[in-house]
Amino acid sequence: MSISKNKVVQFHYTLRSGEELIETSAGKDPAAYLHGHSNVIPGLEKAMEGKAVGDEFDVDVKSADAYGERFEDRQQQVPIKHLQGAKRWKAGMVAMVQTDKGARQVTVVKAGLKHATVDLNHPLSGKDLSFSVQIVDIRDATEEEASHGHAHGVGGHQH
Ligand code: ZN
Repeated sequence: MSISKNKVVQFHYTLRSGEELIETSAGKDPAAYLHGHSNVIPGLEKAMEGKAVGDEFDVDVKSADAYGERFEDRQQQVPIKHLQGAKRWKAGMVAMVQTDKGARQVTVVKAGLKHATVDLNHPLSGKDLSFSVQIVDIRDATEEEASHGHAHGVGGHQH
């Protein structure tokens, strides 16, 4: 079985930007996603197409095919009580904020007593990324997963 639309893929990965290690699934459960539903960044999803269990590969993804460009003017003041994920905030920390388009990650630029200045760019925007990937498992999605547009179970959505 190879990776195509509506397959649920489990994979291990190490994500770097240049020499900087950003994230790895080593020592944890593999990540899981539903292929063909834009649940992973476009550059990675494209590289996954047609791969089989046991395949290992490296893929370089330009920022445009990852988290997009970085915009310097995307900074905003928000009430500090709207930041989720920690009790105290310092510059450089990543917070979750609820918006009308759902939850999004922001980076704290400056934290005051009642308000914080946050950067709305995704923390990885503007960065070229490289992934080392190992495919662990491929299976057909259930009807429920296909209709939800995401994977359930280990490494996927827990409802
Ligand atoms: Zn679901």
